[in-house]
Amino acid sequence: MGVAPGDLRERLLDIRTIWAEPASLASMRGQDVLARFPDAAVREVASHWAIPELHGNEGNVARWVRVKAENLVLGEKKSLTVRPNGRSADFIAPSSANGCAMACAYCYVPRRKGYANPITVFTNVDDVLRAVSRHLARTGPKGEPNQCDPVDWVYDLGENSDCSVDALVSDAVPDAIAHFRSLAGAKASFATKFVNRSLLDLDPRGGTRVRFSLMPQEDATLLDLRTSSIDERIGAVDDFLAAGYEVHLNFSPVVLREGWQSRWAALLDQLSATLSPAARAQAACEIILLTHNEGLHEVNLGWHPKAEDVLWRPEAQERKTSQNGQDNVRYRVDVKRRAVARFRELVAVHAPWLAIRYAF
Ligand code: SF4
Repeated sequence: MGVAPGDLRERLLDIRTIWAEPASLASMRGQDVLARFPDAAVREVASHWAIPELHGNEGNVARWVRVKAENLVLGEKKSLTVRPNGRSADFIAPSSANGCAMACAYCYVPRRKGYANPITVFTNVDDVLRAVSRHLARTGPKGEPNQCDPVDWVYDLGENSDCSVDALVSDAVPDAIAHFRSLAGAKASFATKFVNRSLLDLDPRGGTRVRFSLMPQEDATLLDLRTSSIDERIGAVDDFLAAGYEVHLNFSPVVLREGWQSRWAALLDQLSATLSPAARAQAACEIILLTHNEGLHEVNLGWHPKAEDVLWRPEAQERKTSQNGQDNVRYRVDVKRRAVARFRELVAVHAPWLAIRYAF
């Protein structure tokens, strides 16, 4: 039996304050969010981008998880640009939310607002979905299969948040899943570290791909704070498939630390032993080695220094400026090349049924 959405909401969220742009507050979606948290105080703000009490790291490090659990932000998504991707998905859809109530130590999602960034719900998700439909109409059908999908254009919905948690807060995610249900030639996709069984009732009819994000439980215990356990995520794969989702696996981030190969081998064995033949037949995975960030490293030292014992390994890492200008740190090219090759071997031996969509 699943946990009711209200119980899940209470486990993760204890919303005391909703910070809202006036237009978002007045919208139907804004009012719906307010109704879910009737005890929260409402504070109007000019922009979801600038809330000094929430964003930035100064003063928030010590209250890290409380900032995430006790605050919600309502705003409007201004930029409705669909961006090309080519890895996790063909395209990145404009976000319907950003920020997260969970607290993975390596998470890049909150960087632009400050690291203890709680969920911002965008109330104009209908504009987002219309932008996707316009983009699809301009793009036309997918002519050639690629690693993202053989038939459909895949739009990532959750680049800046976790859609399974967002669905506890508003109907934006259910509405997006409904939109893609009837959008011929396109598929929605999101990676998640949270099992929200209310999504099982949404009848996606193959129009949405859920990518359950997995790592060895020992890593997750240290790094994936506030998320569902790895067993719970694996246990949800067949249920989501039966409910009409396509279900892929997202091995991310792969953290290179003592014993990583044997732990990942055990996880792959567990998948081979647990997933149904139907789940294995449609599954594919993506393998993404850790990218870290010096600023995040410094902040983490203030609230979760043990994570940095495994995330920050200067002897094996090098600097890399990302496409969006972030000064990131990633494993050295030679270290990474060997690790990716080794990971591919582990999949070939321990889960030979599992197609690798990409690894980097
Ligand atoms: S679940 Fe995803 S978005 Fe949320 S903190 Fe973890 S990595 Fe970030």
